[in-house]
Amino acid sequence: MRHPLVMGNWKLNGNKNMVNELITGLRNELSSVDGCDVAIAPPFIYLDQAKHQLSGGRIVLGAQNVDINLSGAFTGETSANMLKDIGAKFIIIGHSERRTYHKESDELIAEKFAVVKEAGLVPVLCIGETEAENEAGQTEAVCAKQLDAVLKTMGAKVFENTVIAYEPVWAIGTGKSATPAQAQAVHKFIRDHIAKHDAETAAKVIIQYGGSVNADNAAELFSQPDIDGALVGGASLKADAFAVIVKAA
Ligand code: PGA
Repeated sequence: MRHPLVMGNWKLNGNKNMVNELITGLRNELSSVDGCDVAIAPPFIYLDQAKHQLSGGRIVLGAQNVDINLSGAFTGETSANMLKDIGAKFIIIGHSERRTYHKESDELIAEKFAVVKEAGLVPVLCIGETEAENEAGQTEAVCAKQLDAVLKTMGAKVFENTVIAYEPVWAIGTGKSATPAQAQAVHKFIRDHIAKHDAETAAKVIIQYGGSVNADNAAELFSQPDIDGALVGGASLKADAFAVIVKAA
């Protein structure tokens, strides 16, 4: 049985007060909820504060990015070992905002996947098509290409104990979520694509949906057989909305 994971991606939001208030709110809202793994990924600079405030609770720490290098002259970067040292477990890689604004390629993202695994952390590999690709009927081809960058270099077994987040770019931050049926079809495609290489691993990999998940649409999305939780942006910045999503999973 796959254990759903709901993860909050805070993106470039917050300050010390907000981190304090949001985590306090989340701990109150979620103290008696179980059956679903929960993680939050605050900005790097607040990871240490967040780790302290999460101590003794059930919410796990995540991070939004990682560098492929482990140390040395790489100004401004953060390594997988540093993220491990600070207590992060789930590392988001390949988010569409990084693919778009930071020109991250499938190959670079595959390297990030490898360093995260080598550090003993859990990559959350984001994949998904743009609106134009969707309209051109290329959704499956795009997702396959993004997965193949990892499959080709590391094989399917590497997806053991990892997370894939299917995030159609047109649904991110737009309020226009994929319908449960649309998302389910792509999730099944992703699982089947990995199953062509390794059925056992494919059956176990967590596939989150992301893109305008909110308190109103979460339950229906999670009722789909291949949707194992969500990567949540906007709605993860409000403790009550995020708690409703976690409870729906
Ligand atoms: P959203 O973002 O929930 O605000 O659409 C999701 C994401 O980018 O991970």
